[in-house]
Amino acid sequence: MQRYQLYINGEWVDPASGAWLDSTDPFSGDAWCQIPRGGAADVDAAVEAAHQAFASGPWPRMSATQRGAILRQLAALLEANAEHIGRIEQRDNGKLITEVLNQARGAAQWFYYYAGLADKVTGQVVPMPNPETLNLVKYEPLGVIAAITPWNSPLTLTSWKVAPALAAGNVVVIKPSEFTSASLLEFARLCGEAGLPPGVVNVVTGYGAEVGEPLVRHRRVAKVAFTGGDAAGQRINEIVASDLKKVTLELGGKSANIVYDDADMEQAVMGAVAGIFSAAGQTCMAGSRLLLQDSIHDAFVARLRAVVEDARIGDPRDAQTQIGPIATRPQFDKILSYIDIATSEGARCIAGGGALTGEGFGQGQFVAPTIFVDVLPSMRIAQEEVFGPVLSVLRFKDEEEAVRIANDVQFGLAGAVWTRDLHRAMWTADRLQAGTVWVNNYRATSFTTPFGGYKRSGIGREGGIDAIKEYLQTKSIWVTTQPKRKNPFVMGG
Ligand code: NAD
Repeated sequence: MQRYQLYINGEWVDPASGAWLDSTDPFSGDAWCQIPRGGAADVDAAVEAAHQAFASGPWPRMSATQRGAILRQLAALLEANAEHIGRIEQRDNGKLITEVLNQARGAAQWFYYYAGLADKVTGQVVPMPNPETLNLVKYEPLGVIAAITPWNSPLTLTSWKVAPALAAGNVVVIKPSEFTSASLLEFARLCGEAGLPPGVVNVVTGYGAEVGEPLVRHRRVAKVAFTGGDAAGQRINEIVASDLKKVTLELGGKSANIVYDDADMEQAVMGAVAGIFSAAGQTCMAGSRLLLQDSIHDAFVARLRAVVEDARIGDPRDAQTQIGPIATRPQFDKILSYIDIATSEGARCIAGGGALTGEGFGQGQFVAPTIFVDVLPSMRIAQEEVFGPVLSVLRFKDEEEAVRIANDVQFGLAGAVWTRDLHRAMWTADRLQAGTVWVNNYRATSFTTPFGGYKRSGIGREGGIDAIKEYLQTKSIWVTTQPKRKNPFVMGG
């Protein structure tokens, strides 16, 4: 069995604990590799290496054009190794091979995009009230960035942070999920090959409490970029607040997929399926609430149920499979408990409703695609994130009611509206409290546009030009061009 090491200061090292954790294939149930069980001492070593690389190394001092060239090299290596890394990641999180390979190739695109942006972040010369003053606004990197990521899309979500952070001239310490660290240790190898100086990228694996928290608390960490659940996000936010560190948080969701009576029914059904059953619902942007206008409710649900009952469920390495296993045992148990909660609240299950076992279902970490109707907005199944293939169907009578139900949750990550009427679409999109709104589509993302949450879905944005500013701080420089004698006791420019 392959045994990985930590990547610190450009070298592969054993964890101080001398202990390793098994990484398990969710489909076969087999432990297939071991990742180091890092701890506070390893975090210290990684942050110190990163700090040295920032304080005295070449990375923040080289031209932004040079940094961009090295990041382009990293992007090319990622592209060339996408198949290898994708297959490794797939063994850890059990996602469909087709999706994981797309994600691995997509990660390279994030590095190309921010490599190109590195030397296009310009400052400003600002007109001043006193014309004898030249004022320059410039942007500087923050320093050591802690990137902490979950198990559902490890390489993708790490790229969303690391690509802009590096392009801006920062250094990073990555803490992957304890369930899916292998692909990020492979990524670290490519960072060395691409010519990133030692200490610029470090990876420390292990548990949230043993690696994540010491990293968040470390006095040399300038910013925490976190993707994960809202409970861990809130805890991290509390810790960084006490140190006044910067933070971006990409958290959970309970996104509404709104279908009006004039929608293209077949397209909208496919959108509902993509929203909740792709990645077996283990996606932050899942359209876990389907809001159907009264007049189409029954026909829509019947068609949706037929599509879902036809889904090919099984081995995620088979390119024909449409729904794979649940990535972790705790998540599998959590999903089943939410099915019980929904039933006890009075929601009516019309598809799925439990685990799938037997031939073709590996070690049994499968949940049948599940649809609940008669869901009321106040039910827990309509309010809380399940992070699995469990859909709550709610009814509405008109636009006002659709928007009221959609916004009546603590989350605000994404949402969609299905209609042929442009005015209806825009009226709804304008009123949805969500960082991303799709019109007649679901679950599209791109490095070119911002992604992030309203309300409890997070703080800050990833993707697009502005996201690089999340990794920069602003300096205003005042230059006196015409020295004049002034009253030194009175403030002014
Ligand atoms: P999680 O919050 O349990 O863990 C995420 C990461 O944080 C892991 O690396 C974990 O080890 C670490 N961690 C946990 N507690 C910590 C602490 N106290 N201090 C520091 N680090 C800590 O989430 P998960 O179960 O791995 O992932 C599922 C969650 O991620 C879902 O809620 C999902 O919505 C969310 N998610 C959000 C987005 C987004 O972009 N908004 C994307 C994907 C997943």
